Amino acid sequence: MKTVDIYDIIKKKRDGITLSADEWAYAITGYQAGYIADYQMASLLMAGFIHGLDENETAALTATLADSGERLSWPEGPYVDKHSTGGVGDKITLIAIPLAAAAGCKIPKLSGKGLGHTGGTIDKLNSIPGLSTKISIEELRRITDKTGCAIAEAVDIAPADKRLYALRDATATVDSIPYITASILSKKIAAGTPNLVFDVKYGSGAFMGEIEDATKLAVSLVKTGANSGRRCRAVITSMQQPLGNNCGNALEVKEALQVLRGEGPNDVRELSLVIAAEMVYISGICASLEEAEILCNQILYSGKGYEKFDEMIRAQGGVPGYEKKLPITKGIIPILANVAGHITGIDAYAVGRAVVTLGGGRLKKEDEIDYAVGVVLKRKIGDEVTKGDLIAEVHAGTKADKENVTRIVKNAIEIGEEPTGIPDIIAVRM
Ligand code: URA
Repeated sequence: MKTVDIYDIIKKKRDGITLSADEWAYAITGYQAGYIADYQMASLLMAGFIHGLDENETAALTATLADSGERLSWPEGPYVDKHSTGGVGDKITLIAIPLAAAAGCKIPKLSGKGLGHTGGTIDKLNSIPGLSTKISIEELRRITDKTGCAIAEAVDIAPADKRLYALRDATATVDSIPYITASILSKKIAAGTPNLVFDVKYGSGAFMGEIEDATKLAVSLVKTGANSGRRCRAVITSMQQPLGNNCGNALEVKEALQVLRGEGPNDVRELSLVIAAEMVYISGICASLEEAEILCNQILYSGKGYEKFDEMIRAQGGVPGYEKKLPITKGIIPILANVAGHITGIDAYAVGRAVVTLGGGRLKKEDEIDYAVGVVLKRKIGDEVTKGDLIAEVHAGTKADKENVTRIVKNAIEIGEEPTGIPDIIAVRM
């Protein structure tokens, strides 16, 4: 019998033939072990990019990536996780997780740092004085047991995905739905919760620009998740403008706390309640989504979500009175409307880039972050403005190129004569 050979596997995929689970496992484990070269893996990736992967191949790639590092498991119970495909001003995890935990969910969350124009939950949390996200799996278990939720920095989860992603990034093979599915899902499967909720975003600030592509990705995540033995739901949501008003790490924590107190911007509150309710429903705490929505609303307005957030932050080392001790910048640059009219667009990607330029995000993964900096949007799409109105603030550190950032933010906000419709936050639920 002929032994498996990476050359034959590449040739098969090049010719559009479906690969078996064993062939995908051979390729990934061989690449991780170092006996399959970068150029061979890159060729296989390109062949798969061009011909696509069917459902079984996507599930096989997901499983082999998940198996490349530690796989966690949890006791029986309402264990659940959520994943956002990333956006600008996306602080939903900070709100939805305590809401769902206060409803009875168990959420041992592993998150990543931000890279590029979208922020990461770990960076937002690390702006809280005293708090540590570098907690061991044992600590994650202990805090989740006690408070219902904890958020730790993911380290050894699906390490083969990290290598593969770097190769995809260098070979123009990132934007393939099967590869994105396997990459996202492998980390969630390795993290071990049986229930998963995906927030798949579309728009200028999102990974997927168009709603059609976001829908394809959501379908693929839910199907592949089910093929991998997980209960999954997905919500397709708008990133046509940043979420909420505050973009930047400490500024977003501040806004999350406002929402948990029943205040803050409507779009953030609406999406947080939707995601929390999905988590509560999928983990079997409520018999219907409507019941879960009512419960999450009660939790929010009774202050129990706020209390749960505080419990989690204190369990992870946040100092007493941390909200008042969040870092702030010395300088705030106002941006004023130069004409009267209506806000007709806010380019989320540009606002995200402005935050990175201020030092609030990373271009390279080694970059240090300034937690205090960011952009605060004082007006959103649909709002009327008169000339001279304050439309945004740039919270800049001393080293920032203030002129450049101010220009980016100014150009990101479009003022037109006629009002346009306000984009719906929630497009599709599945
Ligand atoms: N996010 C991931 O984790 N992986 C991808 O491939 C794309 C987005």
